[in-house]
Amino acid sequence: MTDMILLKEGEVVLKGLNKRSFEQKLTSNIRRRLKRFGPFAVTANQSVIYVEPQSGDCDTDGAFEALGKVFGIMTMTRAAACEKDPAAIAAKAAEYLREDLLAAKSFKVESRRGDKGFPLTSVQLSQYVGGQLHDAFPHLTADMHTPELTVHLEVRDRAAYIHGAPVPGAGGLPVGTAGSAVSLLSGGIDSPVSTWMMAKRGMRIIPVHFFSFPYTSELAKEKVLDLAKLLVPWCGRMNVQVVPFTHIQEEIRAKCPEDYFTIIMRRMMMRIASAVAADNNCGALITGESLGQVASQTMEAMAATEDCADVPVLRPLVGMDKAEVISIARRIGTFETSILPYEDCCTVFTPRHPCTHPKLRKVREAEKDLDVEPLVAEALAGIEFVKIGY
Ligand code: ATP
Ligand code: MG
Repeated sequence: MTDMILLKEGEVVLKGLNKRSFEQKLTSNIRRRLKRFGPFAVTANQSVIYVEPQSGDCDTDGAFEALGKVFGIMTMTRAAACEKDPAAIAAKAAEYLREDLLAAKSFKVESRRGDKGFPLTSVQLSQYVGGQLHDAFPHLTADMHTPELTVHLEVRDRAAYIHGAPVPGAGGLPVGTAGSAVSLLSGGIDSPVSTWMMAKRGMRIIPVHFFSFPYTSELAKEKVLDLAKLLVPWCGRMNVQVVPFTHIQEEIRAKCPEDYFTIIMRRMMMRIASAVAADNNCGALITGESLGQVASQTMEAMAATEDCADVPVLRPLVGMDKAEVISIARRIGTFETSILPYEDCCTVFTPRHPCTHPKLRKVREAEKDLDVEPLVAEALAGIEFVKIGY
């Protein structure tokens, strides 16, 4: 028995009757995620998930890192499994946590006993192992309140497990437990973060990108696909839908008043995204809008674009400052790619005086010459699908 990984389920444990299906989704997400790191056994018991390498060439370091991006995990730790015998547990703890025990000045042992047939109570086990460790590392003092190192022992059905301090996992809910949504993914800073935030709440994501070639270059598209690739470890495999948007933008420019270009363009995005949502059984759209960030993100502008959505529009960033969004983008690893220079389809035909507080009636009037339905149908027919794997 060797080095393995223990994961504590997050909010999943609160889900009462649904707990089983949540746990199944989480373990299947974990299994899929770990495939490329070698054969691991993944089992759940009492809100703990045991990830055990099944061969010598499993990449447990890689697996641990990858699991840090799996939603639904509250804390995670490397652990050593050993035989359920007090002396064996003490010896294993001394060996496995040797570096930590040498570095710490004070320690305590905390035991939990899932297996009620084990001969010692958890208090007796802590005392026994604490005594043994103290003998082996005489510099240590026992400190029950603020120890530098807590040695955790868990006696479970199949084995005993020894570990040090757990680290926080990704949190959230397992992807796939909260339905699916179409996420509008641009090359900017915000939409990768909004996509990540809703995946964190358990949504499976279908990214949609509106592409205005040749006004925006192949590089702009590649950048969006790169961002999707950075999101896959969190969101799971995704099928990005690249929607040809050039003709629509040209039509808007030719047939609508300039002040309304942006708002009408965004209404077209909502219509197309809603159709993609309907085709893919998605219950919502996601955007990276934040209140007041730009002219098209005032309350009135959001109302005017939402008017064209058939499903709820989720805007997880709506109350966040740019600095807050940036700090998440840095943490999840999308920031550096987001700030690479690129052309944004939104800025291709930017009006000189964008209408910041549009009246819905006037917006509808402004797009009256647009052949909305054929344009939407044409865009949908031209979608390019790009599968992004791990
Ligand atoms: P981002 O940083 O995500 O680009 P932004 O602050 O630049 O956002 P806008 O460009 O006004 O804001 O876009 C608002 C939202 O509309 C984006 O967060 C994204 O969800 C969506 N969006 C904008 N442009 C595109 C596009 N070309 N393809 C897909 N979605 C887009
Ligand atoms: Mg943008």
